[in-house]
Amino acid sequence: MSEAVADTDEVAPNDASRFNEDTIVDVPDTGLDPQRIPLPEATQPLKILWSYVAVLSVVHVLALGIFIPYLFTWSGLILGILGHFTFGMLGITIGYHRLLTHRGFTCPKWLEHSLAMMGMCNLQDSPARWVAIHRMHHQHSDRQPDPHSPLANFVWGHVGWVVCRHRDLDKTSHYERYVRDLLRDPFYLRLERHDGWFFVYLFHSLLITMAGAAFGYFVGGSGSEVIRYAASWTVWAVAARTVFVLHGTWSVNSLSHLFGYRNYETRDHSTNNWLVALISHGEGWHNNHHAQPRSAAHGHRWWEFDMSWRVIQFLEMIGLAKDVVRPKSNR
Ligand SMILES: [Zn+2]
Ligand SMILES: [Zn+2]
Repeated sequence: MSEAVADTDEVAPNDASRFNEDTIVDVPDTGLDPQRIPLPEATQPLKILWSYVAVLSVVHVLALGIFIPYLFTWSGLILGILGHFTFGMLGITIGYHRLLTHRGFTCPKWLEHSLAMMGMCNLQDSPARWVAIHRMHHQHSDRQPDPHSPLANFVWGHVGWVVCRHRDLDKTSHYERYVRDLLRDPFYLRLERHDGWFFVYLFHSLLITMAGAAFGYFVGGSGSEVIRYAASWTVWAVAARTVFVLHGTWSVNSLSHLFGYRNYETRDHSTNNWLVALISHGEGWHNNHHAQPRSAAHGHRWWEFDMSWRVIQFLEMIGLAKDVVRPKSNR
């Protein structure tokens, strides 16, 4: 059993079936150094990516608009919540993570690309970059060169790694190593060029703002209502929702490697954290996920509710998801 764990360092990341080999171990002595680990070598000396800082700052400042009563509309709030499910769950947890990174199921190309498009509407980078970083995380969890272990420090594991340059991510060889399978598809390759994914994000924001303006005209009729609804939908359905989904994803990397309980003695510090599971549609059952990365279900015990898994089961039921990987055991 312990050999299966040691293997994860050597596997070829592009071979999804081997890369995601289950890593359950029964041996309590994992050999993990419980001390803090340094920041990844490839980020030294630290260089801030100011473009990321600027964009993330803008979206956070816009999200503060939820505290301005003038900008509150019920339609904006409802769309924000719906967006958390459509863009956040379908795009990130089901699309980017369980489908593209781990191949926990297969689906028609049109659906895969649609899920990837929804993923891009969360300001979490391109599918290839997201998948490359996450596969690297699974391969080296909480050890060098894990790109975002909170054992370095909490802020680094949560958001620091996003805004600092990681030299490996500028290298073609890194993408060759981690996401060759993905980049064989011209759809994903094109998105890497000229920051295509970012324009998808901007375009969807613009569409929502314009739809808000049209809705304001429909319900209010006056110019001021057009502006108020456009601003409200931008704040609630774009900015606040983006920020909420961002921190949900980041919390999986930070909180779910520090706080919670463990069903499996994996050799990383991953934990099952109910709060993170709640805000990230089941991703917070992260110790289960590290134990069985390919499983499309992250909740392994009856109380570990996993919304994303329910949706995948539904997709399977209507014939859109196939080859669904299930957990090997429920302990
Ligand atoms: Zn993890
Ligand atoms: Zn994963």
